Amino acid sequence: MQGDDWDAVLDVAVPAARRWFTRLPERRVHPDTSPEEIRAVVDRPLPDAGTPAPDVVAELARDLEPFIAAHASGRYFGFVIGGLLPAAYGAELLVATWDQNAGLYAPTPGVTVVEETATRWLVELLGLPPSASVGLVTGGQMANFTCLAAARDQVLRDAGWDVEADGLAGAPPVHLVAKAGRHVTIGRAARFLGLGERRIVEVAGDDQDRFVLDDLRQTLAGLSGPTIVCAEAGNVNTGAFDRFDAIADAAERHRAAGNPTWVHVDGAVGLLAAASPTHARLVAGLDRLDSWSTDGHKLLNVAYDCGIAVCRHEAAHRAAMSVRADYLIQGDGGLREAMDFNPEFSRRARGVGIYAALRQLGRAGVAAMVEQATAMARRFAAELAASGHAEVVNDVVFNQVLVRWRPPAGVDPDTYNDAVVAAVQRDGTAYVSGTTWRGHRHMRISVSNWATGARDVDRTVTAMLRCAASVAGEDAPASRHRVAAGNPRLA
Ligand SMILES: *Cc1c(COP(=O)(O)O)cnc(C)c1O
Repeated sequence: MQGDDWDAVLDVAVPAARRWFTRLPERRVHPDTSPEEIRAVVDRPLPDAGTPAPDVVAELARDLEPFIAAHASGRYFGFVIGGLLPAAYGAELLVATWDQNAGLYAPTPGVTVVEETATRWLVELLGLPPSASVGLVTGGQMANFTCLAAARDQVLRDAGWDVEADGLAGAPPVHLVAKAGRHVTIGRAARFLGLGERRIVEVAGDDQDRFVLDDLRQTLAGLSGPTIVCAEAGNVNTGAFDRFDAIADAAERHRAAGNPTWVHVDGAVGLLAAASPTHARLVAGLDRLDSWSTDGHKLLNVAYDCGIAVCRHEAAHRAAMSVRADYLIQGDGGLREAMDFNPEFSRRARGVGIYAALRQLGRAGVAAMVEQATAMARRFAAELAASGHAEVVNDVVFNQVLVRWRPPAGVDPDTYNDAVVAAVQRDGTAYVSGTTWRGHRHMRISVSNWATGARDVDRTVTAMLRCAASVAGEDAPASRHRVAAGNPRLA
């Protein structure tokens, strides 16, 4: 190894990155490939001898690029995968370059303070209590886990039980109340926390998968003892938001009746709506809850991976997560140490990307980005509904569009919907994924990227109609779209 290896590696990596971004707007959005095809290129016997670092990187870039999905493309609408803001990207390059272990201030003063600033900005941006504590984790799954761990600590402590010291054996039961239609990561967190997925007290969801409030109130009235209610900001299928004010009221009554109560919100998709004044109605009462989880890598458009866990009750958050060891230097900077608020020990400085994203956009830019996502989702809904070939089955209040394609006579609707989704994926103009909703197959469109503009939506709808027609064995319908003005420019 020599010092000038860094230069030689950058000499191949930087042009590869430039090439990627240059091609990004027009390249296939998803590779049409198979594991066998990729293995044929990268899977070789473990080498005995080494290869010079620049060659390794150059070959990786050359060999793998054709098989990389363009998640940052403005026409990637699969799952809920955010785009990538240029400042966040640049920050990630620096974080990778510096290779900091950001668990504590002592080993890494600089990025720790940047993360402190980033988390304060986030809390302010989302209108949450200024004293709230924040853990930066790998994603929404771990943010839900972290918040629910704090919730478990607090409701049991209020019931006279120290779960951190004594575990769950012999503890009073904890009722975890969630709705049908909750994200699967809630059940998984319940498993990790020993609460048991099967023991979740399930409340009905309405036609948008929001809590049916009367059912929630009735359920709470029938429960006594430590209770955690798990609400949602941005359902993964419908984009719907629970009615937080009503849920906070119900929780207050439950608490007043002597039951330790905590309300958590899974905001992986939608918490950022709180940064947009035009979405204020959706998030009314959000600031009255006890914990909030969200993703940096979804609508905030920072790089993977980045999740955010926010708690009103710092002591519970700290009790659930902190760790002490004689060989560590803790509390050195007089600030909140990351290690006390997230489940990782060593960790990547993922808050630096948040800092950069918020500086690039500012408050106004974040609001505009969120509003653009909603506007583009509505454009999809309007164009697809107008086509006569598809029905939009959700109320498009945010970034998610749930679509049911109308099959030709005699064709099974589920088979047809899956075939249209598969055809769009193969076509490569855009990428969408499918879901089962109310027992039937649907197409999901998730607009989660700053780069998605009207032209992307129109091109995608045209491609979808072409794919649907070809699956149906008809001729493609003529494009019925106006050519829209260009794509959004960043502030
Ligand atoms: C994506 C998602 C999660 C999980 O987030 P990850 O970042 O993938 O761990 C949790 N809840 C909802 C509603 C989601 O959409």
